[in-house]
Amino acid sequence: MAKTDYYQSLGVSRDASAAEIKKAYKKLAMKHHPDRNQGNKESEEKFKELSEAYEVLSDSNKRQTYDQFGHEGMDSRFGGGAGGFSGGGSFNDIFGDVFGDIFGGSGRGQQRRGADLEYQIELSLEEAISGKEVKMKVPTSVNCKDCDATGAKNGTAFSTCSQCNGAGQVRMSQGFFSVQQPCPRCGGRGQMIDQPCSTCSGAGKIKKTKNLSVNIPSGVDTGDQIRLSGEGEAGGQGVQSGDLYVSVRVKPHSIFQRQQDDLLCELPINFTTATLGDKVIIPTLNGKVELKIPNGTQSGKQFRIKGKGVKSVRSNSTGDLYCRVHVETPVNLTKEQKDLLSQLDNSFRKSKSKHIPKENGWVDKIKDFFE
Ligand SMILES: [Zn+2]
Ligand SMILES: [Zn+2]
Repeated sequence: MAKTDYYQSLGVSRDASAAEIKKAYKKLAMKHHPDRNQGNKESEEKFKELSEAYEVLSDSNKRQTYDQFGHEGMDSRFGGGAGGFSGGGSFNDIFGDVFGDIFGGSGRGQQRRGADLEYQIELSLEEAISGKEVKMKVPTSVNCKDCDATGAKNGTAFSTCSQCNGAGQVRMSQGFFSVQQPCPRCGGRGQMIDQPCSTCSGAGKIKKTKNLSVNIPSGVDTGDQIRLSGEGEAGGQGVQSGDLYVSVRVKPHSIFQRQQDDLLCELPINFTTATLGDKVIIPTLNGKVELKIPNGTQSGKQFRIKGKGVKSVRSNSTGDLYCRVHVETPVNLTKEQKDLLSQLDNSFRKSKSKHIPKENGWVDKIKDFFE
């Protein structure tokens, strides 16, 4: 298919400035825009051609390539397939860029709906892991019953809006365009309130603190949200209420830290336990477990206790508990204890490399370093 030259499509010269190109495109695109030519295939094709031309000529890199190589350069370099044009997405971008507020969402099928609300709850780690029913007092608004959310006294004290004659929509002209917009005077309702409802002062909604309860599922973590459909702000007459999002925050725990579905804890053991080995009792969130510390355990060693983490809120899996050993150096020793340790130290020194290999190796490294 032979393509029209991009400059020709837009009716500009080859040395046209960016502003001239934009202006030409805007003018022609308005004329051929599908909204103004519904069902007209020819206009649609023309509009696509214009948008394609503008996409290339408005981008200095693409324009340069086009000037050098023509359409062939475009097809191979910008991978547009048979048509050579990327289609939908980018063309909407151009459109938004050039026309901005003219089309900016005005009256294009936007659904009005009450506002969503967010409510924060704080849980202990235990509560987050086991799940809990939480009662909440949520300040929100509900539709006024006395006026059926209309804002008018008894729901009937209306007169027809004089600006839109009750249509709720007005046509606004901007250049070639005429765009439907919600009537600014009546806010799209088509009617004006003669006498406001005394309960809600004409707002159609009243503030109310709702008492709600939510079942927090077991396994939630900070950042998780539970949606209560329709419990957000009222939307007004005949309009859906928003949703209420309950956001979870889990308080820090004195022993456990959570990492996804695993729990981490620090396990302080004294140096004789670490040296000789022993059994220690580990607390978990469902009872105690015994953990065997092998002899010669070093600080930083991590033990995994399988299945003692958190049962995931999203899957059936359960995390593990990781205990990280911290070997504690004894403090506040008595004279007797110090003497015993001195004896022990002397004994160690007789065969350093065997009993304290790391320290020994380190001392050797330092010697090498200075020599
Ligand atoms: Zn109106
Ligand atoms: Zn009312």
